[in-house]
Amino acid sequence: MQRAGTPDSSVGVNQGTTVRHGGPLLRTHARWKTARVTSSTDASPLSDLSTEELRALATAQRDAHAAHRAKGATLDLTRGKPSAAQLDLSDALLRLPTTTTDRSGTDVRNYGGLRGLVELREIFAELLRVDTEQLIAGGNSSLTIMRDVLVDLLLFGGVDSPRPWSQEEKVTFICPVPGYDRHFGLLAELGIEMVTVPMTDDGPDAEAVARIAAEDPSVKGMWIVPTYANPTGAVCSQEVADRLASMPTAAPDFKIFWDNAYAVHHLSEQEAKSADIISLTSASEHPHRPFVFASTSKITYAGGGVAFLASSSEQIEWYLAHLGKGSIGPDKVNHLRHAEFFGDAEGVLAHMRRHREILAPKFAEVERVLGERLGGRGVATWNSPTGGYFVNLDVLPGTASRVVALAKEAGLSLTPAGASFPYGKDPQDTNIRLAPTMPPLSELTEAMEIVATCVLLAAAEKLSGDTAKE
Ligand code: PLP
Repeated sequence: MQRAGTPDSSVGVNQGTTVRHGGPLLRTHARWKTARVTSSTDASPLSDLSTEELRALATAQRDAHAAHRAKGATLDLTRGKPSAAQLDLSDALLRLPTTTTDRSGTDVRNYGGLRGLVELREIFAELLRVDTEQLIAGGNSSLTIMRDVLVDLLLFGGVDSPRPWSQEEKVTFICPVPGYDRHFGLLAELGIEMVTVPMTDDGPDAEAVARIAAEDPSVKGMWIVPTYANPTGAVCSQEVADRLASMPTAAPDFKIFWDNAYAVHHLSEQEAKSADIISLTSASEHPHRPFVFASTSKITYAGGGVAFLASSSEQIEWYLAHLGKGSIGPDKVNHLRHAEFFGDAEGVLAHMRRHREILAPKFAEVERVLGERLGGRGVATWNSPTGGYFVNLDVLPGTASRVVALAKEAGLSLTPAGASFPYGKDPQDTNIRLAPTMPPLSELTEAMEIVATCVLLAAAEKLSGDTAKE
């Protein structure tokens, strides 16, 4: 199989920094930089309006809300799923592989090869900037591998653990917020406690992480989505990655769960490049600190892709030893199908540019509606991600649940307010994750109009002191 060229090395780490829009919230969050956008509507901040003006605004938004409700549409901005048009891009997979053997002549239809097909691992090793020997290809879900690793750590301890984690009095993970709800759900189910740190434009607040990890030996690990984070779109900077890699930790077996789910999911030509956490931790003499996860779920098929795990060689052997008790090998037919489909790393990047052609207009539409309807009104801020699958919307504190409930009445499902926080509890009731990839553009416009109407209505109700009427 042809080896691909190196991805553009002139692109530095963290060139995909998000920009926050919407003007400052009335009670703003310190964690985001904000930038005003001009609006084509009357954009007086709601804080400048009298109670009567707020009531008039609420009435107008209630009318708009009723009009949306009357249409009886069923719209959905909940989960970050690829659209049918995106899935279609990979339909050549359905006619692959063209052969039954890998390049060494091994029959992929048979048992064996627990590490996964080497020709596919080579392609993704290059993209994830890890050694092929330190990368394994598994089944279709990286989330399943994350669960496997957590369960193995609890049952057996890691290569550097004094004892299985389950024998500790307490195990705690650092969770940057807002974050990925399924990460938090996994920990909650396994009885692992969660301590939150804020996300910044450059990744998790590294000082907060370092302080917590240094003080408390029950703190055994942290989550991070380093590239185009779910949901903030932030890209972890080289400096933050360096700090996380080198910080002293009270637990001798502290782990970074580096979930690089969106490593190649660029929305613009400004392609962020993830920090090389494995080299950074090795250089700091913490080689067993990171577990790197990725998958092709949002590259090929979300239900039929391939997931990857990278780590130190010892930790990969540790994982395979446990995996080998429950598996005689992964789906190598699917691995070969993917290796043939991509050809090389450049093939993956070219394929992702086709995804971008479908996705970029959707993200632009979200930004257009938010800017036109909410710009300058002081009741919402949002990011303009340069990659990934989400737009992070912060509404007037105390109104996120009301916005989601209002949207539901108008036929639009939004991710539950608070979902981006451990135990589903956003202490400020402010954060809403928007997932614009799945609906067609025409539906997205209507969905975003509903979002804007509900944000304004909930804010006007709250600021005027009127209780909800609808
Ligand atoms: N990690 C993150 C950050 C995600 O946003 C998602 C899906 O939305 C996943 C992992 C799921 O990955 P997979 O399909 O490989 O299990």
